Amino acid sequence: MNTKLLFTLFCVAVSIVAVAQKKELQTITENDLKAHLEFIASDNMRGRDFFTETPGVDLAADYLKSQCAKMGLTPGVEGYFQNIEMEAVTPDLDQTVLSLKDANGNISYQTKDIFSLGGPAKNDTIRGDVVFAGYGWYNEDTKYNDTKDLDLKGKIVLVMTRTLEQAKEGAEPDMDTEMKKMSRAMMGGAKALVLVNDPMNPNTEYIESIRKYATGGNLKLKGAKEGMIIPIRLIFGTDELADKMLEGSGKTLAGLQQEINKSESPKSFAINNLTTEVDLVKSTDNIVGKNVIAMVEGSDPELKKECIIFTAHYDHLGTDGEGGIYNGADDNGTGTVALLEIAEAFQSMKKKPKRTIVFAWVTGEEKGLLGSDYYSQHPVISMENTLADINLDMIGRSAEKELDSVDVNSKSLAGPNGMYIISGRQSTELLDISDEVCEDLGLVPSDELTKAFLTRSDYYHFYKNGVPILGLSTGLHDDYHEITDELDKIDFHKMKRVTQYAFSVAYKLANQKKRLVVDKPVI
Ligand SMILES: [Zn+2]
Repeated sequence: MNTKLLFTLFCVAVSIVAVAQKKELQTITENDLKAHLEFIASDNMRGRDFFTETPGVDLAADYLKSQCAKMGLTPGVEGYFQNIEMEAVTPDLDQTVLSLKDANGNISYQTKDIFSLGGPAKNDTIRGDVVFAGYGWYNEDTKYNDTKDLDLKGKIVLVMTRTLEQAKEGAEPDMDTEMKKMSRAMMGGAKALVLVNDPMNPNTEYIESIRKYATGGNLKLKGAKEGMIIPIRLIFGTDELADKMLEGSGKTLAGLQQEINKSESPKSFAINNLTTEVDLVKSTDNIVGKNVIAMVEGSDPELKKECIIFTAHYDHLGTDGEGGIYNGADDNGTGTVALLEIAEAFQSMKKKPKRTIVFAWVTGEEKGLLGSDYYSQHPVISMENTLADINLDMIGRSAEKELDSVDVNSKSLAGPNGMYIISGRQSTELLDISDEVCEDLGLVPSDELTKAFLTRSDYYHFYKNGVPILGLSTGLHDDYHEITDELDKIDFHKMKRVTQYAFSVAYKLANQKKRLVVDKPVI
């Protein structure tokens, strides 16, 4: 055989692969993506969460399962559902109570109109003497210090929202400021910080707006250790509570605020003959979460034992309690339905790729990457034989133009051709393949989000196990985790291209002779 013939044969072989791929790529269409997303991101799904009356997350799982069955995908686990035992810890607001007691231990006032942030999963009772600490603020520049002469150790510290400066400027309260107060009180050894609206606060709804977040359920994998519990509780109370606490001193919160603002000096003091007792009651429920897992089995008898996995979380944030539904069209309706289209493309191939392709729609991402955590402990093909994880999370948006700089906390949208790839850089070969596919499809990859986002989506549990990752995203935007993350803002053309990219990379990985080279195992 001469070299010319060999070269011709080689070209034929390459073009057959290219054509096959092209044909399958055509099955990924804007129309199909849109049709799936119209359902997944509809109000019927109730925001795909665990804690709505009908858990929307289960409705979404049912939809995915029925689509897998319709396509004839091989179940990754029996019936496609990988059941995950979880524990939901919810504050029991009916039993949560704060009592004020006088010097003789008699209850002088009791209220249930409180809630707290954080704390342990079990019931929690806090008892202590009370100090009033104004705004609870320390200003580094002016040295204004509300806690200067106070002994905070073991105390329950009553403070009001905002700072002296914010109150004088009429500024909105912000959580960052309040958290700083909490950490200062914690450093001083306080048991709890009781935060109430300051009487001049124009935003009287401020504390109410935190209530939903604080009183929503907390999920964890059953048996998983609790994260670090901070030794202070942040308790949100009413102005009535503040005045009842101050009663014995003959002062009111409004009066004290005026005194502080006028003199620009702290008016903090220990409140005599008063102890406060707070019962923070929690209830624990068992919940079964579901990863939906399907496969297209590899065609090579040996290589099929290895896989490329696709992951996308299908859960989201539920409802806001005021009639608003977090439809999460971009987060992560887009990744969820893209996986359906990728699965369809692989399933439509007459000759399947050599290696197995696993599709895992994971749950509980918004609750702390729970579904992917569980999967990484119970994979359908071992982590060792998982060549790469391609994770799709928020892949449907485009900015009008490229931004000059990436601000990860505000608008960090990739442009009309841009796509962020979060990668652990464990495999140069993988990134080379990725670059090649990007070039074919006219996509411009950026890894600028990697540093800030490596722990923030489901790829993290693969990265942690040494599996090379490609985390795909078109970036954050103003609608992120808002009820405005809706279908009409999705750029389906862009989304199709990102989906085709993901298919193409996996196709190459699944068919190449050798295993992907991992040059930097990361554990
Ligand atoms: Zn999210």
